[in-house]
Amino acid sequence: MTPPTYGFDTLQIHAGAQPDPATGARQTPIYQTTAYVFRDADHAAALFNLQEVGYIYSRLTNPTVAVLQERIATLEGGVGAVCCSSGHAAQIMALFPLMQPGDNVVVSTRLYGGSITQFGQTIKRFGWSASFVDFDDVEAIEAAADENTKAIFCESISNPGGYLTDIPAVAKVADRLGVPLIVDNTLASPYLCKPIEMGATLVVHSMTKYLTGNGTVTGGVVVDSGNFNWSASDKFPSLSQPEPAYHGLKFHETFGNLAFTFHGIAIGLRDLGMTLNPQAAHYTLMGIETLSLRMQRHVENAETVAAWLEADPRVDYVTYAGLPSSPYAARKATIYPKGAGALFTFAVKGGYEACVKLVDSVEIFSHVANLGDTRSLIIHSASTTHRQLTPEQQDAAGAGANVVRLSIGIEDPADLIRDLDQALAAATA
Ligand SMILES: *Cc1c(COP(=O)(O)O)cnc(C)c1O
Repeated sequence: MTPPTYGFDTLQIHAGAQPDPATGARQTPIYQTTAYVFRDADHAAALFNLQEVGYIYSRLTNPTVAVLQERIATLEGGVGAVCCSSGHAAQIMALFPLMQPGDNVVVSTRLYGGSITQFGQTIKRFGWSASFVDFDDVEAIEAAADENTKAIFCESISNPGGYLTDIPAVAKVADRLGVPLIVDNTLASPYLCKPIEMGATLVVHSMTKYLTGNGTVTGGVVVDSGNFNWSASDKFPSLSQPEPAYHGLKFHETFGNLAFTFHGIAIGLRDLGMTLNPQAAHYTLMGIETLSLRMQRHVENAETVAAWLEADPRVDYVTYAGLPSSPYAARKATIYPKGAGALFTFAVKGGYEACVKLVDSVEIFSHVANLGDTRSLIIHSASTTHRQLTPEQQDAAGAGANVVRLSIGIEDPADLIRDLDQALAAATA
């Protein structure tokens, strides 16, 4: 008998969770424990040899975190997921099994500012490198790849402009190159976009944003589609070749389509230690229960506020891909039919000075370096998140000096518009 397939709204509440076997507790308990008692010495040895799956130590696995992993894997349509301590940790955890010193990843120029720094600078310390290209030009992706390219990386909806990536087209390039496509799905959430259904191999999230949804947690996750054949070439020895730390075990041969997930726990979390704590997993589980409801309201409000801004003479342009005037309108209709998210930028007449005055004048919007909160948020990227970048990089990332980024929350849209109206008046006086 095939199990019933439940809808998204049901799965966001139930997937991965059962009444607690010890107490019947209906809500998933916070298993605030570091270690787990072994039944006997044979049980302990089997766990350490990866011959039996179970709990050893919470750097590797924890029951509260395990429920969250299964919940997100289910919502994304993956076979497994590994939670970790932040979105940035998830990006390193995604690349770690794929890359050796000398290898590279081809990444989009339109990324979260911190990701541009992580890929452009920090990963060089591991002997890895990144080539940045415009992902609207899929031929440029292929041209930037070479025999040491081990992954393609982009955001579904990209920070800060809210532009939409043509994931099916990028996935075809990754297939031709024989490398995995990793999609950062933070800004869309699995409610608005399911990259695995469009050909992505791995999905990463900053759970800090919409998945938790209320600005209480720093967390990340890597979701494994289970669809990549790691043994098709000799490009991915960590997954296809014997692993000395586990007596020569081959992850792909032993764990099949769960090879990447098992490697993430047994090597990634074990040795890099970027673990999510059970308390944070609990808050994220609470947040995910209302994900679809929040995303619908986020999108509705973003559409309303963006349309109002676009019609305002103090505003040069609005980048929101959910506007009918957007160059991404056709892509939105086919690939992101439920909406283009709730993060976008707009350019203020008056440039850098006016932008700084604007962020100092808002009352409901909070001036913070975060997004995906129930609260509406505002930031001037050029003086904050993207300030480490050159002016050319800022422009390429859509974060020029005259540009302000909004993360539209789920408040009353009329109040958000009133707040922007008075702040624009102050900024352009
Ligand atoms: C915030 C963010 C990250 C980094 O996540 P952290 O949880 O802050 O480490 C990565 N990608 C995108 C798109 C983000 O918005």
